[in-house]
Amino acid sequence: MSLRTKFMLALLLTGLAAVAMVGGLAYVGMTKKVDVIRRQHAADTFYEGMSAYLQKYGSWQAAGGQEGFDEFMHSRRDAQGSRPPPPEQDGEDRQGPPQGGEDRPGPRPGEDRPGPPQGEEPARRDDRPPPPRRGNGEPPYHFIVADQDYRVLLGAGVYRRGELLPESARKDARAVKVGDRVAAYISPEGIFTPSKQEMQYMDAMREALLAGVTGAAALAVLLGVLLSRGLSRKLSHLTDAVRAMHGGSLLQRVPVEGKDEVAALASAFNDMSEQLAHSHEELKATHQTILAQAEQMRELSVRDALTKLHNRRHFDEHATTLFSHAVRHKRPLSMVIGDIDFFKRINDQFSHATGDAVLRQVGEILRSHMRLSDLVARYGGEEFVIAFPETELPQAAALCDKLRNLIEGFPWHEVHPDLKVTMSMGVYADLAAGTAEAMLQKADALLYRAKQTGRNRVCFA
Ligand code: GH3
Ligand code: MG
Ligand code: MG
Repeated sequence: MSLRTKFMLALLLTGLAAVAMVGGLAYVGMTKKVDVIRRQHAADTFYEGMSAYLQKYGSWQAAGGQEGFDEFMHSRRDAQGSRPPPPEQDGEDRQGPPQGGEDRPGPRPGEDRPGPPQGEEPARRDDRPPPPRRGNGEPPYHFIVADQDYRVLLGAGVYRRGELLPESARKDARAVKVGDRVAAYISPEGIFTPSKQEMQYMDAMREALLAGVTGAAALAVLLGVLLSRGLSRKLSHLTDAVRAMHGGSLLQRVPVEGKDEVAALASAFNDMSEQLAHSHEELKATHQTILAQAEQMRELSVRDALTKLHNRRHFDEHATTLFSHAVRHKRPLSMVIGDIDFFKRINDQFSHATGDAVLRQVGEILRSHMRLSDLVARYGGEEFVIAFPETELPQAAALCDKLRNLIEGFPWHEVHPDLKVTMSMGVYADLAAGTAEAMLQKADALLYRAKQTGRNRVCFA
């Protein structure tokens, strides 16, 4: 279920619950209050009427033969100027002693004991018949009237005529006196049925309440739609932005509208996105620096600090690769090792710094006469090694002799007037040696031969 639907439902339920609670309480409270007022009014009217009735005839039994209580009340109302429509009621609920006729059981002249036989227990309330429904024009009250001995004269649908009024009902009973004598007791207990007019009034209240609930529900739905649309729109901005970040675009901005929690979330999201993008840029820059430094370190680790030529480690690694390649493709490969003649003497005679300068310059001569595919390195001390791929022995020997010549012919006197530098070299080009290292050993043996045979020369095989 979407957040929008949930929000709408929450608003709808809250609205309905609030309206139902307030409306229900108001309805119940009002109904109760109206009922109490009507009941009190009816009780007073009944008491006054019954007092007048008994005053006129002296007792219930005396009145029974002459005029019913209802007729008396009608006449009384007529005299007061308001005549209700004729009553429609059965004999049991008829208010006042009946005046004869088969359909109107009750006290007749001479029938002083309308109740049940002496000693009969009052009927249980549960057994009592349901209260009669009141017809149009029926008095709006059915109160209980008992004689001076608490025998029921009018049961109001709650008690049967003649049964003893229970103690609980006697408590609130009001005595009707004729002279000093109690002629009857009237209990406010009884059935009070609302009139048609009251029923209509209650129905109108119910209808108004229902209309209120319907209106509140419609308003809640409308508000729910409007509010949830705004909320889901803001959230979908955030969702899109998070997806875009997930896709790699870290710098995202969502609109910040208002000052609510969603606005705070959007603002925090914008800050976070900005920081994340910034950190990511910094991280990228740091990464680049680290890569560059790593490359620098790697380069330093394979370079000789003095001559800037590759070092022995680099040469050994790459010479092996060149050898494998040459063997696999049956291509020529020449290995060279050169050694500066009497270098110890140069150091001793001119200084160590001059020796360094010689090493640097020899390195430069070698480097500047190499092809890109050639591999040259300072192998240690005043020894240099060269690998010439795709080069047969005669070419390599010729090239080495040229290099030897260049070294010898360099204007060393510019470094020192008495300085002379030469180099002896050994060249080996037979792949049958088995490894690059073995080829180099063979070249070293040839170098030794060059040293032995007078120096400043190239020996090859
Ligand atoms: P040969 O002709 O037989 O090769 O004699 P040589 O004197 O060149 O050989 P030897 O191996 O006896 O001497 C090499 C000298 O190189 C010894 C050492 O002091 C010097 N040397 C080694 N590395 C360096 C360096 O980096 N700088 C300088 N200035 N001298 C170095
Ligand atoms: Mg040496
Ligand atoms: Mg030497």
